[in-house]
Amino acid sequence: MIKKILIANRGEIACRVIRTAKKMDIATVAVYSDADKQALHVKSADEAVYIGAAPSSESYLNQEKIIEAAKSRGADAIHPGYGFLSENADFAERCEKEGIMFIGPRSHSIRSMGSKSAAKRIMENAHVPLVPGYHGEDQSVEVLKRAAIDMGFPVLLKAVAGGGGRGMRPVFAEEEFERVLVEAKREAKNSFGNDVMLVEKYLPRARHVEVQVFCDQHGNAVFLGDRDCSVQRRHQKVVEEAPAPGLSPALRSAMGLAAVRAAQAIDYVGAGTVEFLLDANRANDEGDVSHSAEPDSSQFYFMEMNTRLQVEHPVTEYISGVDLVAWQINVANGERLTLSQEEITLQGHAMEVRLYAENPYQEFRPSTGTISHLTFAPEDLATRIDTGFESGDAVSSYYDAMLAKVITYADTREKAIEKLLRALNLCKIAGVYTNLDWLKTVIAHPQFVAAQLYTNFLADNPGLMDEAEHNKHLKQNVNVALCWFFCIAKKLFDRQQAGFSMAAGFSMAERSLKTQSGGLTPWQRLHAWRLNQSAHMGAEFILAGEQFSLSAPVDTTNSHHHEAQTAMASTLIIGNERYHLEGVWDGEILSVTCNEQDFRFPVVALDAIAETANQTASKYCLLTPALAVELQITPADHGEGDAEEGDASYLAPMNARVIEIMVEEGSDVVKGQALLVLEAMKMEYTISAKQDGVVEKIMYPAGALVEAGADLLTLGSQ
Ligand code: ADP
Repeated sequence: MIKKILIANRGEIACRVIRTAKKMDIATVAVYSDADKQALHVKSADEAVYIGAAPSSESYLNQEKIIEAAKSRGADAIHPGYGFLSENADFAERCEKEGIMFIGPRSHSIRSMGSKSAAKRIMENAHVPLVPGYHGEDQSVEVLKRAAIDMGFPVLLKAVAGGGGRGMRPVFAEEEFERVLVEAKREAKNSFGNDVMLVEKYLPRARHVEVQVFCDQHGNAVFLGDRDCSVQRRHQKVVEEAPAPGLSPALRSAMGLAAVRAAQAIDYVGAGTVEFLLDANRANDEGDVSHSAEPDSSQFYFMEMNTRLQVEHPVTEYISGVDLVAWQINVANGERLTLSQEEITLQGHAMEVRLYAENPYQEFRPSTGTISHLTFAPEDLATRIDTGFESGDAVSSYYDAMLAKVITYADTREKAIEKLLRALNLCKIAGVYTNLDWLKTVIAHPQFVAAQLYTNFLADNPGLMDEAEHNKHLKQNVNVALCWFFCIAKKLFDRQQAGFSMAAGFSMAERSLKTQSGGLTPWQRLHAWRLNQSAHMGAEFILAGEQFSLSAPVDTTNSHHHEAQTAMASTLIIGNERYHLEGVWDGEILSVTCNEQDFRFPVVALDAIAETANQTASKYCLLTPALAVELQITPADHGEGDAEEGDASYLAPMNARVIEIMVEEGSDVVKGQALLVLEAMKMEYTISAKQDGVVEKIMYPAGALVEAGADLLTLGSQ
């Protein structure tokens, strides 16, 4: 009986395994690298062992260290999660030899599925339908090309050792075959150290439908329904759902039985997934699948078997009511499956999206950095968030940038989508770019809602990737008005705070007032406060790459005089529209009514380091109900005349590149003069002189990369 499990993984999957282990009263040991000392999976486990430096090759892939950790802590089993060592037959074998239970299939089963071509041969013998193709040993260009010509273009070249869509390329015509083959082989060699290729018929309108199988050590095998994972970007799954919509019961059961045959053909034990391609033209509504009594076996084809728990397993857990990790542990303990195929009932519909720290509007580039704010939708019986992150954590470039999986469940597909949209609207993330808004657009797309699914759906809808569209959305006047309101409220708030702390931040007039009255009055506290009249206040900021400079009369006479908040009202004109804004900012939450629409949302500073360097952060994120709106206040909001005399420090407010230096050492400068320009996240940021003086020293040349908080130059008095 397993008493203590070491989880040889990190992030959400480590947390997820720990959750079930706790329920089963099994102790848990986490492992962590230098990058993960404070990670949630480490905090969630009963014990944690340090296993090495941040690169996975030195930690999460370091078999030696992991085995050593398991032994030193007396763990009797290792759960590998997914990725890392989960499909490494040598590691599974190593565990077997060391007498540590590997929670997964036996090493020989992993090995037989390790090569896509060997797997295909096994499946052929087990009468599992295959995509027509060549998976032979002769790798000469002539043989591969002949196979392609015989099956007819387009074809797909696949690395036999491939994974994650790498080493995979479609070829549309004979003339380009050699060129694409060279590219595919190069990528395969670089990624997997193996450039053996197979050739398959390419199905451009295919669906990815996979079947969850489970086998115990006593020869029992079942399938727990299917999942549709057709919504993919570059062959990587984005949205997953269970069950796959629109399949006839006959097709469903034919696929399930084929999957079980596949598992049995390799003497499988534990949780596994058999992936099929389904001819979308036939399987979707326009086809006849749902009406046909007899499935045509040629409409689904074996692709590969994943010999581990999948990222998307929660959707199956929702519809089957089975805790797959608990089943994995029970099977590893030698127990029999508790349900027969007939006893497995599937109900309702579950939908999952993979929330990533990446920028969909910049080619989905991973976004690293500190997550300054992270709240997810509250979990309930039908909303599940699997994550390994919390506010303040860093997304590092060492590991996969998936922040969370958001999963919802309902009795119908439509309701599951609606619920997922609502849940995504409640997720608020700042500090890193995410695909959150993009995911909402994807699952609200009419074609997705109508379940017209196929693997090229995203690629065929470039509108879904349109940055201009997104920016237009961001720059809607109401967002502009909210940003402006925030800038002004913040200005007032900062001055008010400065007043309360008796710190710097008063103009000479204010200083003399303070001395005269010896206390704080609205005169000092609120810059814009005027008897019987509103003061005009302006703000400059950058939103979605565009600079805005707007001003309007601001009335603070309604201020509650509450010490920790700033209340104000104003009417701002943008183009031909008037925005009446009235609200309060308390340093964290902005509550504002904009043309009778009520908003209440947090605003977070994104330059945490700049703040610690005793500067006001200049970049903020308004976590409005619909969007995370990032703005940059320009010029840096030190407030007019706020800088203390003699404050000669010029610190980089963020990690940036120096793109221009406008002065030289020895130059005389006047207050407000631009000194140098930084660029960060494609935005420019000008550092200006806070007072008249002489440039003493410039620390970096143009082109240099500077870290947040770095001293940029020194200015002496003339
Ligand atoms: P990997 O192991 O790299 O993830 P897979 O063989 O699982 O590769 O394929 C990944 C994705 O590539 C599939 O989900 C599907 O979208 C697409 N794909 C694979 N084979 C074909 C094919 N023959 N025709 C069309 N698309 C395919």
